[in-house]
Amino acid sequence: MRRPLIAGNWKMNLTPDEAVQLVKKLKNILPRGKDLGVVVCPPFVALQAVYEVIEPTRIRLGAQDMHWETGGAYTGEISPTMLKEVGCSCCIIGHSERRAFFGETNDIVSRKLKAALSYYLTAIVCVGEQLEDREEGRTEKVVADHVSGALAGLKAEDLERVVIAYEPVWAIGTGKTATPKQANEVHSFIRGQIRENFGEDAAAAIRILYGGSVKPSNVSSLMRQPDIDGALVGGASLDPDSFAAIVMYDREDG
Ligand code: PEP
Repeated sequence: MRRPLIAGNWKMNLTPDEAVQLVKKLKNILPRGKDLGVVVCPPFVALQAVYEVIEPTRIRLGAQDMHWETGGAYTGEISPTMLKEVGCSCCIIGHSERRAFFGETNDIVSRKLKAALSYYLTAIVCVGEQLEDREEGRTEKVVADHVSGALAGLKAEDLERVVIAYEPVWAIGTGKTATPKQANEVHSFIRGQIRENFGEDAAAAIRILYGGSVKPSNVSSLMRQPDIDGALVGGASLDPDSFAAIVMYDREDG
């Protein structure tokens, strides 16, 4: 049984003060004491302040990106050890905005993933096709390339700390969501790829999140799909009521 994971990616939004306000509200709305598999990913400068608010709760802290080195002459970058020290237990890697605006390649994603794993950070690795890929029938090819590029050189046991987020780029921040059936088809394709390369146990255990305009009104139908194990939420995670409603979709463990 895979435990659901709902991660909020705040992107380049909210100052540290605003981030603290948001997470305080979220903490008050969510039921106390239950591990609902919630992660919030604020901008770097808000990580520590947000951690201080969520530290006594079951909400976990994630970063939106990291460098693969532990330190050195990499102006502007943040290392996995720095993330650990401010309370992060996970990190988003290879978000499509990083691939599109900052030139992240599969090779970079793979280096970051290996670094995250070596520091015991759970990595949320993003994969997904552009609209023209889907329209021209290349969805599986592109997704397979992202997955194999990211996971290159890993062993089945490494996947314990890997979460895949399938995010069709045409659905991110556009209000267009993949239908539950469309999303599940790709999730099931990804799980098949994991099965082929890492075996049945790894395929059965790995969590595959869906991302792309997830909101309170569509989360339940997505989460009812057999291969969808959670959500990576952008826009709707900036509103504590919406994000809490997503976290509390019609779940049986809530
Ligand atoms: C994202 O940033 O990963 C995302 C899915 O954004 P949105 O929910 O706004 O589409």
